[in-house]
Amino acid sequence: MPFELPPAGECCRVAEGVWWFRLPLPYVLDHVDLYLLEGDGERVLVDTGHADGTTQRLLAQVLGERLDRILVTHFHPDHVGNAGHLAARYGAALSMPRPEWAMARMLAFESDEAWGAALAAYDRLLGVESELARRRLALGNTFARAVTAPPGSFRDLHDGETVILAGIAFRIMRMGGHAPAHAALYDRGRRLLLAGDQILPEISPVVGCWPDEPESDPLSAYLASLDRLAGLPEDVLVLPGHGRPFRGLHARIDAVRAHHEARLARALDLCRDWATPAEVAFALFDRPLDETTVAFALAEALAHLNHLHRRGDLERESGADGAWRFRRR
Ligand SMILES: [Zn+2]
Repeated sequence: MPFELPPAGECCRVAEGVWWFRLPLPYVLDHVDLYLLEGDGERVLVDTGHADGTTQRLLAQVLGERLDRILVTHFHPDHVGNAGHLAARYGAALSMPRPEWAMARMLAFESDEAWGAALAAYDRLLGVESELARRRLALGNTFARAVTAPPGSFRDLHDGETVILAGIAFRIMRMGGHAPAHAALYDRGRRLLLAGDQILPEISPVVGCWPDEPESDPLSAYLASLDRLAGLPEDVLVLPGHGRPFRGLHARIDAVRAHHEARLARALDLCRDWATPAEVAFALFDRPLDETTVAFALAEALAHLNHLHRRGDLERESGADGAWRFRRR
């Protein structure tokens, strides 16, 4: 049973006390889906959208005069963007996993210089050519411009704990891979999963190695989270961060796993000879990339290379130019 997409500034009821609405995003991925929980005299918003005048007007239209709590699944700007704005406007309390809150607070206040230093070192490791690296650097701290800083006081969300939101008992599932400790909310009684970006109906959530931790292996964490999600019942109604509510969780998990297996095989193939992460990224994402989309291509390519390296399928060397090169063992 497909859900009708609600018009801008309006909600669609997806379950008793659970309302869905959509906000625009200024990216290639042009929308984010949010949920409003209402019951027991409480109104709770799950995720907040990218911070700009348009989203803030639409939020005012949807929320009206009252909001009691804000829950944010992870620190990405399309989810945490308006948390600071809404907390100030409504006096609403923020709940968020601590690693996600800390990332958002840190990046919201990071100077362009500090941001640029990590980015320049990362681009050097990945073998990004100097003209592109210069253009990327010139963008400055893009995170800070997409968010209102979340408040300095918040409530943590622990893995496995039960939280009552608007009278609904949700179990918190904290999972890595897309973000350090992304929270999904599971209502076991009614088999509803507020999934955030951990699993999406049409696209594979970005799993990337970013300038803050270029040696990480987020794909291992992400694949482990899929195993965990596969433990939920097949008929769960998934309420995703991008896309319409859907059923068919297990088939979707299989499709996303297959996508990563194919990417890994392709990356391995591209490393028959020594190749930098940038070379692999441009070969994997065979389409024009601007300064913004290239960031995702580089981060995702590196995540696949690091995973293969960790697994022992690739060896890695550092060149005289400071760039990593990977080759099939
Ligand atoms: Zn998102």
